[in-house]
Amino acid sequence: YNAKESRNSWKRYEKKMNLKAKEKLLLENDLRIALELDQFYLAYQPLVDLEHEHLVGAEALLRWSHPERGEISPADFIPLCEENGFILPLGEWVLRQACMQMKMWQDQGFPPIVMSVNLSIRQFRQHDLSERIGNVLKETGLEPQWLELEITESIMADVAFATSMLEKLKKIGVRISIDDFGTGYSSLYYLKRFPIDKLKIDRSFVNDVLTDRNDAAIVSGISAMARNLNLKVTAEGVESAGQAAFLKEQKCQEAQGYYYSRPVPADRFEALFEAERNKAVRGAASS
Ligand code: C2E
Ligand code: MG
Ligand code: MG
Ligand code: MG
Repeated sequence: YNAKESRNSWKRYEKKMNLKAKEKLLLENDLRIALELDQFYLAYQPLVDLEHEHLVGAEALLRWSHPERGEISPADFIPLCEENGFILPLGEWVLRQACMQMKMWQDQGFPPIVMSVNLSIRQFRQHDLSERIGNVLKETGLEPQWLELEITESIMADVAFATSMLEKLKKIGVRISIDDFGTGYSSLYYLKRFPIDKLKIDRSFVNDVLTDRNDAAIVSGISAMARNLNLKVTAEGVESAGQAAFLKEQKCQEAQGYYYSRPVPADRFEALFEAERNKAVRGAASS
């Protein structure tokens, strides 16, 4: 045992942690003004019906273009927002923005598709969430059936609260999907108990579906189960034609992933609508 070395490594650790804490504080300050300064925007990724390759939906994904740091990934700031509560105003901004955009697209005559918005657990726990969502729908004029809320399995931690909240949300008429399905609680109990519409198979299962027999079994199993429970199913993270073909074979209904398109800003998403007329959604937003 080397006391000096241990002391040094502790110092290094402390230094690193200090930096981390400072970094966090800086980011928190920046977050506060980012909303006012209009530094956030939404990117939209298409959801495609596998059988007919129709465009059926868009997922709204939050983006932050920081003046000095450039684009910051949501994975790097959403956890912080959840921790400090900023996700509440930010999440509501996302919801309003996404509903407004979809209503605008509808008014422009684009074919109707569903807009998916991610809800954080902290948003879900707000007692007045359904009223808030109802208000946003009213303000933006979007009909509820075109809004889908993506929640994660973590909401199942409080079954009683989750059940009553989901029922309130269903009453409004919005759709509910379980995001990153298979990575969380994994209790099948709530699948029959909760009023949900869709499972989104996490991309960690889809990644190696062609080479890993276990992943293939999991994906086809979830597809079959969802079908029998009358739930829709979307495979996330589809990156190749081979994966898409496999999923189609498994009668998985919908797919989302780089194979069709990366998440793109609103104006580029409109190219996907245009391509839809020529049945060529894949790749349309990149040109
Ligand atoms: P998510 O809801 O599961 O969204 C899908 C993520 O997978 C997105 O990452 C998307 O860009 C990425 N993705 C899509 N297709 C592919 C693919 O083929 N390959 C690979 N490798 N990745 C793919 P993104 O945009 O970085 O978002 C990460 C996570 O941040 C989201 O995961 C979601 O949990 C969270 N997030 C994003 N926007 C919001 C938001 O407005 N509110 C909340 N609460 N969370 C958000
Ligand atoms: Mg999602
Ligand atoms: Mg998610
Ligand atoms: Mg996901």
